Amino acid sequence: MTRQEAFMHSVLEMNPQADKKYTINTYGCQMNENDSEKLAGMMESMGYKHTAVLEDSNLVLFNTCCVRENAELKVYGHLGALKALKLRRPNIIIAVCGCMMQQQDVVNHILKKYRHVDIIFGTHNLHKFPELLYKSLNTDATVADISTSEGYIAEGMPIKRGHGVKAWLTIMYGCNNFCSYCIVPYVRGRERSRRISDIIDEARILGRQGYKEITLLGQNVNSFGLDFKDVTSFSWLLRCLEEVDGIERIRFMTSHPKDLSDELIYAMRDCSKVCGHLHLPVQAGSNRILEEMNRKYTREKYIDLVDRIRNQMPNISLTTDIIVGFPGETDEDFDRTMDLIRRIRFDYVYTFLYSKRTGTPAAKKSNQVSDKIMKARFDALLELQNSISKKINSTLLGKKLEILVEGPSKNNINMMMGRTSSNKIVNFEGTTELVGRLVVVNIDNAGTWSLDGSLV
Ligand code: SAM
Ligand code: SF4
Repeated sequence: MTRQEAFMHSVLEMNPQADKKYTINTYGCQMNENDSEKLAGMMESMGYKHTAVLEDSNLVLFNTCCVRENAELKVYGHLGALKALKLRRPNIIIAVCGCMMQQQDVVNHILKKYRHVDIIFGTHNLHKFPELLYKSLNTDATVADISTSEGYIAEGMPIKRGHGVKAWLTIMYGCNNFCSYCIVPYVRGRERSRRISDIIDEARILGRQGYKEITLLGQNVNSFGLDFKDVTSFSWLLRCLEEVDGIERIRFMTSHPKDLSDELIYAMRDCSKVCGHLHLPVQAGSNRILEEMNRKYTREKYIDLVDRIRNQMPNISLTTDIIVGFPGETDEDFDRTMDLIRRIRFDYVYTFLYSKRTGTPAAKKSNQVSDKIMKARFDALLELQNSISKKINSTLLGKKLEILVEGPSKNNINMMMGRTSSNKIVNFEGTTELVGRLVVVNIDNAGTWSLDGSLV
């Protein structure tokens, strides 16, 4: 029995008859969502059942994000609101984990101002949660553990996945890139890849369990395996996963443009299960800003890379991330970004207002852009991109496309929704028996963010 299993067993044995219920609140990226699935798996192994009702739970967990300030503010808001609940029900356990907790000043702030929090732990100590919960159940003091067991990769954790058709599969942790605006390398540590055999085993289990799609997760999947200093590479991983029975579709994110090799482009082209979509964050279109961001490529290199990708996969759908209002961004710099968007014609752009993150080099810059200018640039970019997205989607009208059916449509529960290989959402009339199946639909209507179709 591992240490983790021993503590899970001990918690399970405590009040085994009790009605143990948990809620979990996840902020931030897909990797956090995947971490929350592992936390949920541990909680269920300790006898807790999920509830969506906060008032009913005995264990409330917050898995936090600190990439942008607004994610942090939301956590503080929710934690503050829980004070009254803790006063009414002192036995409720409130736990906070994730990226925010890897920052000592945040932990100090919570210890001082949110004394009703019972457990604090960071991203490196996810596997220790059962031990911390056990300790907390046996003490009135706050249990905090943000020690850095960074090199350790915990395998075989229980997991309760949020979706029955598609699954997140983390292939590596951490980031070595230190983009000057980004907090991730400070809170997630250096790059560590999982062993290829562990990843394939997990994919095989998913295939056997009926999952049809996997999304491989890492801050920069292109550098997967480089830490092994052998032949392991991301393109090799894709070629291995192509052989896994049951898995019909493979997606991945995120690819850093500086490391996307021709070898990977060929693997994407050759592997029929690898989807026709690439998320390739460019962040800015001005070389001066790209350099200040420490992105290690120029707009010309990015354009050349996109040309090479489109040469091999002419129909590939491309999406990107852009930050507006990076310190010192002038109107001219922003025009270069708008020009790049017109030139590349992305299928979709995820646009972020620059958020100052204490501890990053960009936060020390004196020439921060005003909120008003940032917002105006954000709106202009959105307007441009929406018109491009709509035009690209309109070219799909009348086409017959294969979609993987995921479940009821979010906006209309009488409709079903699925995604094309290019990651476009298609809403159509259908029944729940189709969930998890690949079906062909005719595209009847094209909007900016989704398509409407009918079963063929
Ligand atoms: N590792 C991925 C990459 O390099 O593309 C992305 C990880 S990051 C969590 C997701 C996106 O958040 C980034 O691509 C960037 O656009 C955005 N982001 C990161 N730091 C930010 C900041 N300080 N302000 C605004 N957006 C930020
Ligand atoms: Fe952040 Fe850059 Fe690493 Fe992405 S590659 S996580 S943006 S430092």
